[in-house]
Amino acid sequence: MIDGRTKTCGLIGNPVEHTMSPAIQNFLAEKTGQNLAYLPYRVEEEDVRKAVEGAFALGFLGLNVTVPHKSAVIPLLVEIDGLASKIGAVNTLVRMEKGFKGYNTDMPGLYRAMQSDGVGIEGERILILGAGGVARAVAVMLAEKNPKEIFLLNRTLARAEEIAREVNDVAGRKLVTPMPLDGWREIPEGEKLVVIQATKVGMFPNVGEAAVEEDAFYRKVKLGYDLVYNPADTKFMQLVRQAGGKAFNGFKMLLYQGIIAFELWTGEKISEELAAATYSYAKTLMEKHS
Ligand code: NAP
Repeated sequence: MIDGRTKTCGLIGNPVEHTMSPAIQNFLAEKTGQNLAYLPYRVEEEDVRKAVEGAFALGFLGLNVTVPHKSAVIPLLVEIDGLASKIGAVNTLVRMEKGFKGYNTDMPGLYRAMQSDGVGIEGERILILGAGGVARAVAVMLAEKNPKEIFLLNRTLARAEEIAREVNDVAGRKLVTPMPLDGWREIPEGEKLVVIQATKVGMFPNVGEAAVEEDAFYRKVKLGYDLVYNPADTKFMQLVRQAGGKAFNGFKMLLYQGIIAFELWTGEKISEELAAATYSYAKTLMEKHS
């Protein structure tokens, strides 16, 4: 029940109307007995500063930040976590004494989701499709998990080259190979690939599309992880399965980034049982709305 002691959290982004985050956060609050309410706020680019300062003045415990404000909030923080700073994107603000500290829970969220799905990275040949904001963060995160090599394929090659340069500089070796989208043909034969699909292709309403559609590509793939979760079964996932591989969507990543944010705000550790219950609840809700 909302009363005089209810703490508030929220999401700022644009648009925010289709977000699942309020369902996830309010479910977690209810199940853990936290007196906390979470609401979505559509914020225009020129109002980000006012929104963040206003939320602090109003006593918000924290905020989630989504597209297109994940970099714009950085100059407004009093502190930034090391991983968020490396990635250059903040999706969670946590209240401190004089302002908010910024974190990135998307990448730890993806990693926890992959662990929960039994997907390993160490020693694997990884292929990332896309070189946007999320693909960049995925490359930075996976580079730290000791993969054998990473192929980074993007429609605009220059973006893939820029990320490869940055990650290779940090890794101190040629870990990431940038390629155009059809560069998969040049990948030497070897162990099958773990593919992270981080382009926007295949997202609702363009559900019949995949960034790469050739069967020969999917014969090189043993596991496909699509960061898109609407629809739940993307064309990319179907092509992976048709070629005999295993496929997952991005819904667990969304769930775990939310769980990690909730843990940061409340200090409450979410058990795997509650994570599983939240997953079922949010999945049923999403299926109802799609
Ligand atoms: P972004 O920065 O806008 O990057 C978009 C990427 O998609 C770029 O690599 C772009 O290639 C590529 N792309 C777009 N249209 C294309 C097309 N027609 N053909 C080939 N490539 C195309 O987006 P983002 O923020 O990184 O998000 C990427 C995906 O991650 C989205 O689908 C988003 O829903 C998903 N995501 C999931 C979660 C989760 O919790 N599961 C969280 C965040 C994001 P160019 O560089 O050539 O334009």
